[in-house]
Amino acid sequence: MTVTPMMAQYLELKAEYSDALLFYRMGDFYEMFFEDAVAASEALDIALTKRGKHDGADIPMCGVPVHAAEGYLLTLIRKGFRVAVCEQMESPAEAKKRGSKSVVKRDVVRLVTPGTLTEESLLEARRHNYLTAFAEVRDAQALAWVDISTGAFHVMPLTDLRLGPELARLAPSELIVSESKEPDLRDLADDFGIALTGIARSAFDSTGGEARLCALFNVETLDAYGAFTRAEVAAMGAIIQYLEITQKGKLPLLRVPQREAAARTVQIDAATRRNLELTQALSGGRAGSLLAVLDRSVTAGGARLLARRLSSPSRVLSTVLARLEAVRFAVTETSLRHQVRDQLRKVPDLDRALSRLSLDRGGPRDLAALRNGLTQAGDISANLSGSDLPPLLSDASKRMIGNAELIDRLDTALVAEPPLMVRDGGFIAPGHDPDLDDARKLRDEGRGVIAQMQADFVSDTGISSLKIKHNNVLGYFIETPATHADKMLSPPLSETFIHRQTTANQVRFTTVGLSEMETKILNAGARALEIERHHFDLLKADVLQAAGKIGQAASGLAEVDLTTGLAELAACENWAEPKVDESRAFTITRGRHPVVENALRATTGDPFIANDCDLSADDRAAKIWLLTGPNMAGKSTFLRQNAIIALLAQMGSFVPAEAAHIGLISQLFSRVGASDDLARGRSTFMVEMVETAAILNQADDRALIILDEIGRGTATYDGLSIAWATLEHLHDSNRSRALFATHYHEMTALAGKLDGVENATVAVKEWEGEVIFLHEVHKGAADRSYGVQVAQLAGLPPAVITRARVVLDALEKGEREGGATQKTLIDDLPLFSAAASPPPPAPKTSAVEDALANVHPDELSPRQALEVLYKLKEAA
Ligand code: ADP
Repeated sequence: MTVTPMMAQYLELKAEYSDALLFYRMGDFYEMFFEDAVAASEALDIALTKRGKHDGADIPMCGVPVHAAEGYLLTLIRKGFRVAVCEQMESPAEAKKRGSKSVVKRDVVRLVTPGTLTEESLLEARRHNYLTAFAEVRDAQALAWVDISTGAFHVMPLTDLRLGPELARLAPSELIVSESKEPDLRDLADDFGIALTGIARSAFDSTGGEARLCALFNVETLDAYGAFTRAEVAAMGAIIQYLEITQKGKLPLLRVPQREAAARTVQIDAATRRNLELTQALSGGRAGSLLAVLDRSVTAGGARLLARRLSSPSRVLSTVLARLEAVRFAVTETSLRHQVRDQLRKVPDLDRALSRLSLDRGGPRDLAALRNGLTQAGDISANLSGSDLPPLLSDASKRMIGNAELIDRLDTALVAEPPLMVRDGGFIAPGHDPDLDDARKLRDEGRGVIAQMQADFVSDTGISSLKIKHNNVLGYFIETPATHADKMLSPPLSETFIHRQTTANQVRFTTVGLSEMETKILNAGARALEIERHHFDLLKADVLQAAGKIGQAASGLAEVDLTTGLAELAACENWAEPKVDESRAFTITRGRHPVVENALRATTGDPFIANDCDLSADDRAAKIWLLTGPNMAGKSTFLRQNAIIALLAQMGSFVPAEAAHIGLISQLFSRVGASDDLARGRSTFMVEMVETAAILNQADDRALIILDEIGRGTATYDGLSIAWATLEHLHDSNRSRALFATHYHEMTALAGKLDGVENATVAVKEWEGEVIFLHEVHKGAADRSYGVQVAQLAGLPPAVITRARVVLDALEKGEREGGATQKTLIDDLPLFSAAASPPPPAPKTSAVEDALANVHPDELSPRQALEVLYKLKEAA
């Protein structure tokens, strides 16, 4: 079998990256071959062609143009592929020099995976893009994560059990684990939509990991950054190793690893995050989530910080209070807030610009972004310094200054609006470098000379339509219409004009002078670009030198943006500052659900009905509200809004209520709604029980729990018994503060038996056989469930509604009279008769109703109407 040298090179490279698509650079295209081509053409919906033969069969091929590659990359990554980008490492001319048959040298320069993206177009500006690694060393486990587009680097010890919740919090795009662990974690990763990558076990070796980390941060030991466990070091080491593999040795700028302690943030499990729609709506996506409603930040860095805070509200009182103090300041200082927000609007994404520069993927525009951002940072800091700032803001403000020298250097060197790429040139300001100015002058003068040449040629030849043009094949050339061909091709003109090309309508020439001029222009242009490139490298080195300070400024800006954004929200939406302390209070006055409130405003325009909640408990006792009321009354909304208010308070935000007093919560649990987990073969009921078990096993006396309709997924008596026992356990053993919504009215009896349980209900009114939802929460138990009325509202066919009423009456009667088992009750019902039976007798009507039936308002004069009213009053 013979293989062309190029194919041999391709196969060799491909063998190294068997789990990725190989983007094989050929001139202006990235080509894919064999199975890669088949898969990519399908995923990208591009044409599959063929090229040559291999083993006697056609080689399938497809390709994407280099200039449009980013878009295709994004699609492939989103569809779960990894892409190895293979570039030409020399020009075809260089290859020829080595021998006439030599193939251009190529090598993979980067492995693109979901967790290692840095391009602006591949990333969402307002979201982090985390790469995580989970490591196990003997019995200990740890999770490390980086965002290479911003340099953030974190680690925390972790047990297997907590992996799910932490992944839910971070929402990473990729998780790396040791190969042997991959099968165990496949389900979990799929559940969260995270790309799972198994890598060699050796990458998780803690000794090797330590060496890699020390080398990266240029330190002798890691002790300065904290006392890490072996598992933590292994997880961090694996990340570095993976970055070395994917970035081909070019490491991004990472901040020193920060250790996160689970004890400092509110523990929220994955189901609760999903149910409360904190950062993502149940329908997927950001729209409709709490985050979307909260987000008034004007910079990408601020938006990312907001998402981080909301994902991990604090349970350290001093932290919460400091953040609240800052927001309060920004709420009060209205005009300062507006000014600062206007200034922030001009701040570009410093973190990401810095990261691109460090990975050699940056351009002049990134340098300009740093210049503009740092300048703004200084201005904002100066603006803030006039006020008596709370500590959080004054710290942030201090971090934003001290880059004057770098700003100055960037400012004098760069033009105002540089191009994206270095190769475009023209980004170094005139006057910055005399050599550059000379080269540019030569190049530009050349262009002027050419214009002069054209004028001269026109007069020499007497052909007024003669033009000097430029294209990539011929360079500069002289063009005349074909009608002048004879004249040009015969002496004396043919002595000066050298024929180059004849097209259908034109003839093209050059002259010795024109060629010389062209070379001069080209050389001067190349020289100018070379000088610019040199300056770019110098400036980049300056920037990277200052990376630490730039990171500080970016973090200060993000903090100011977050604080002023939350203040803006509080001011516009009329939110109140919560009181947070170490007590076990939980009092919310006239609380609202911000997302539902927003949705109502945008759709029906109905007002949101504010409601109070009081779960304040003494000492270590439990306090539970047992909430009854028909479906659609607003039970879930009420449950969620109280949980959300607590989270908002602890992330340091004002809250949608008139007042709130929250004693710090440590954990938040919810069991809300029901969704089948069919992928894992679990029924609704099973999911519900697994989640309930987790709550009962973990919740402590600082937990806040919201439980909605426990036991709904099974037979009535089973469900009731489980709900009953769950409530008792929460009360006696967990001693948590909890809201418990149920449709089992029987449970309201528990309020009389358990000290910490109170009944509450969402009020409805019945009006002409229909229910009207008031959405008001009151103390006390609901009188009935109104299920049939709600079903009617939902548009169930009248026959079904009528039939349901009959069944319900019979059941209720049976219950009242006692003794009747459900079986005999059902037997007594006229089965199979719903459709056939005559319509039920019209319900008995009152005298007033009878009288009213005969009144036709359109036919009455005002006076007659008044008389009717008097009569009705008598009849009532
Ligand atoms: P339940 O859990 O009792 O079935 P939901 O909480 O799902 O009811 O509420 C049903 C709908 O009622 C919501 O989608 C919302 O439109 C409306 N709603 C709920 N609470 C309120 C309220 N406090 N004010 C106004 N409308 C509300």
